[in-house]
Amino acid sequence: MSQVELVGINKRFGETTVIADVNLTIAPGEFCVFIGPSGCGKSTLLRIIAGLEAPSSGELRIDGVRVNEMEPAKRDIAMVFQSYALYPHMTVFENMAFGLRHLHLPKGEIDQRIEVAAQALNLATMLQRKPIALSGGQRQRVAIGRAIVRKPKVFLFDEPLSNLDAALRVKTRVEIAKLHRSLDGVSMVYVTHDQVEAMTLADKIVLLRPLAGNPDLPSVAQVGHPLELYHHPANRFVAAFIGSPSMNFIEGAISEVTAHDVTVNVAGQTLAAAVEGQGLQVGAKATLGIRPEHVLVGKAGLTGTVAHMEHLGEHAYVHLDTALSPQPLIAKTQLDALKLGERVQFSLPATAMHLFDANGQAMRRQQ
Ligand code: ADP
Repeated sequence: MSQVELVGINKRFGETTVIADVNLTIAPGEFCVFIGPSGCGKSTLLRIIAGLEAPSSGELRIDGVRVNEMEPAKRDIAMVFQSYALYPHMTVFENMAFGLRHLHLPKGEIDQRIEVAAQALNLATMLQRKPIALSGGQRQRVAIGRAIVRKPKVFLFDEPLSNLDAALRVKTRVEIAKLHRSLDGVSMVYVTHDQVEAMTLADKIVLLRPLAGNPDLPSVAQVGHPLELYHHPANRFVAAFIGSPSMNFIEGAISEVTAHDVTVNVAGQTLAAAVEGQGLQVGAKATLGIRPEHVLVGKAGLTGTVAHMEHLGEHAYVHLDTALSPQPLIAKTQLDALKLGERVQFSLPATAMHLFDANGQAMRRQQ
C-alpha cells in the first residue's frame, strides 16, 4: 500500500515547458489514469515518477518520503512499456526471473512468485517458450508478469495495449482490471490516449492538456472519477475531450440569470441551462454544451435538417444542420429511418445543458 504525491512538479526541455505545476496524490491501491492529447506530457510525467526523468522543479514523494534523488531501481516501482521490452533469447520463465535473480532471492521464492504470476496471467503453459513463439497479447502478459513478480509498491503502465488489435485490447483491458483487484492494495498509474480504457479502468482520471499556446495554465485540466469528468466537466477543454462523439457546443450571449437557470440568446432563440449563474453578466458571451445522447430528436421545440447519418446497429447518430451553430448538432437516436434532407424537430432539455463562461469555465449544474 503506497501513496505517490506530486507536489508542484514542472518539467522543461530546454526553453520549453512541457509539464506545469502538477499537484496530485495517488492514493494507496488506486488505479490512476493519465489521459490527454498527444504531446501533453503523460509519458514524461510517468517517467518522472519512475525516476527515468528528473523534474525541473517540485517534489515527488512515495509514502511521504522525498524520492527526487533516489535512483529508479531503489524506488520499488515497476514499469510496463508499450514495446514489451522482453529479452528475445530468454524463455518466458527466464524473462520473469531475471529481475528477481538480481535481487538475489532464493530459487524456491523465485519459482513460487513466477508460478503465482503465471497462473494469474494465464501463462502457466508457456513458461518454456521464447518471446518469438508468443502472440502480441501473450508477450504483453509476460511483460506484466515480469513486473508483478517483483511485488512493487507501484505499477506504471505506458500505453501497454496500444500495439494490440482491437479485440485483444478489450480482453487485456479486462485482465488488467482483474489483476488490479487481485493485487490487493497496489497503486497503478496508467497512461493512455484511449478514452474507453481511461473510463473503464480508472478510479481516478487525470486529464492533462497541452501547454502550447497556454503556457500560464497548469497541465492538469481536471482530476476525478470518470463519471465526474463526464457529467461535471470543469471546463470546455474537459467537456470536449471526454465523450465520443464529443459534446455539442453552441455559442451565445447571456440573456437572463434566475435562481433556477441561465438563459442564453442564440441566433434569436432563447435556450435555458439549469446551472448556477453566479458572476455571469447579462450580455456576456457564453457557450452551451449538450451531449449527443441528451438531444431529444422528435420532440417539438427546435428544428433542424438531417445532414448525415451514422448507423451503429443498436443506435444511430444524426448530424443536424441548425441555425444554432455553424457545426452540425450531433444527436444519438433510435430513429434509423431518418432521411438526408428531412426536417426534424428536436429539443435541448435545460437539465442536460452545460454552460461555460467566456473563459471556458463550467458553471455549476443544478442538482
Ligand atoms: P505524451 O505522452 O502526452 O504524448 P510526452 O510526455 O511524450 O507526451 O511529451 C511531452 C512533450 O515533451 C512533447 O512535446 C515532446 O516532444 C516533448 N519531449 C518529450 N521528451 C523529450 C526530450 N527528451 N527532449 C525534448 N523534448 C521532449
